[in-house]
Amino acid sequence: MHPHMHRALFVCLVSALAAHAQSTPDWPKVNAETLKHYQTVVRTDTTNGNETKVAQYVKSVLDAEGIPAVIYEKEPGRGNLVARLKGNGSKRPILIMGHSDTVKVDAAKWTHPPFSADIADGFIYGRGTLDDKDNLTASLMTMLLLKRSGMVLDRDVIFVSESGEEGQSSVGAGFLVAEHWPEIEAEICLAEGGAIVRRGGKVEYALIQTTEKIPRGAQLVAHGPAGHGSRPLRTSAILHLSRAVEKIAMWDPPMRFNDTTRYYFEKLAQLSTPEEATRYKALFDPAKSAAAREYLAEHEPGLYSMLHTSISPNMISGGYQTNVIPSEARATLDVRALPDENMPAFYDLMRKVIDDPAVEVVPTARISRNTAAPSRIDNEAYRIIEAANQKVYHTPTLPQMSTGATDMAYLRAKGMQCYGIGPMVDEEDAAKGFGAHSDQERLLGDALYKFVQFNWEVVTALAAHQ
Ligand SMILES: [Zn+2]
Repeated sequence: MHPHMHRALFVCLVSALAAHAQSTPDWPKVNAETLKHYQTVVRTDTTNGNETKVAQYVKSVLDAEGIPAVIYEKEPGRGNLVARLKGNGSKRPILIMGHSDTVKVDAAKWTHPPFSADIADGFIYGRGTLDDKDNLTASLMTMLLLKRSGMVLDRDVIFVSESGEEGQSSVGAGFLVAEHWPEIEAEICLAEGGAIVRRGGKVEYALIQTTEKIPRGAQLVAHGPAGHGSRPLRTSAILHLSRAVEKIAMWDPPMRFNDTTRYYFEKLAQLSTPEEATRYKALFDPAKSAAAREYLAEHEPGLYSMLHTSISPNMISGGYQTNVIPSEARATLDVRALPDENMPAFYDLMRKVIDDPAVEVVPTARISRNTAAPSRIDNEAYRIIEAANQKVYHTPTLPQMSTGATDMAYLRAKGMQCYGIGPMVDEEDAAKGFGAHSDQERLLGDALYKFVQFNWEVVTALAAHQ
């Protein structure tokens, strides 16, 4: 249980979760139906396109239940579906969504073919099983179950099957926000980005994404005199660049917590081994923080990145012939900013760290998503999510800032309170090559079924007439 949560409120939330026990779905029956829809959408190849095929299938399922749904296409074949169950309007809507596109596949590397949705040892295999046809299916099932329950809703429940998430949001989230905002506008949204973390087959905790870093970028451009390669120059552009790259990559940028990351590290300490806990707590102690950060930089790069705006030099170029000293060399940096970073000031700080007039720091005009504050962790929605994690998984909840980007950035920038959710995954699975975007993406069938139950619990607690 949330240590900051008042008992009275907790009791009241538990009764909110239990209030609709009379309409509790017949889960074994629901599971069979869930599997059917999930396998159908996984078997539909939507590797960066063809999302309309999924949208049409989903529409046929919704039509059969009498749930109105519309498909919106910015480009042919790249359809988004929007469906809505009407509430009495006493609360503002909730939006539940999943993206229907997937990343590409290298089919030769798959044991179970990428669009087979084969089941082996309880796992369902296929591209999109984790990213994001699980969220898509769970949202769809929630709509069907809500409609059949005949439940009176205090708010509209909007469902979106979204296209273009993997690299072309101009046909998906960007398009919907720009051209169909009234159809998707909501107070709260649930989308991909979280997980129930299992280790050694045991559930450890639930991660709920409440904010994310913002992709930015920069180039380092070094200048120097050109010359003959037989007469090395201490002023060589390549020498200047390599020194600058090392300085900036080894730099420990200023650490800063937001509500999400502060609470995440505090709570993670409570759930970790004594050794890890000491390290996470040390982050907050000015005398010990630098040593703890150094440890994380080396051993836990994902956690280290959550502490500050990060910089990774990912491309480097310079020179065109063995015997020519080039006059210019460039490095391209992946900069992932904290949501509240002041970028001009940060670039200035980078210039100070590099401290070399021969090296320019040139900000790149990378897809600059609008920034937004982290979604709240002290509101009704978050507490209901926590209570549902307790009820379905018997596990505590940690809010998380993802270091990568999701389409929730578009929605948070418009003021929606968005929470990234996800099914149960084994922490060891990604390293074994079974993760999202890998050559053997898979999800445990039981994890899918529990995820549908979790969605149902959260959405009914938030939307059902009290
Ligand atoms: Zn995804």
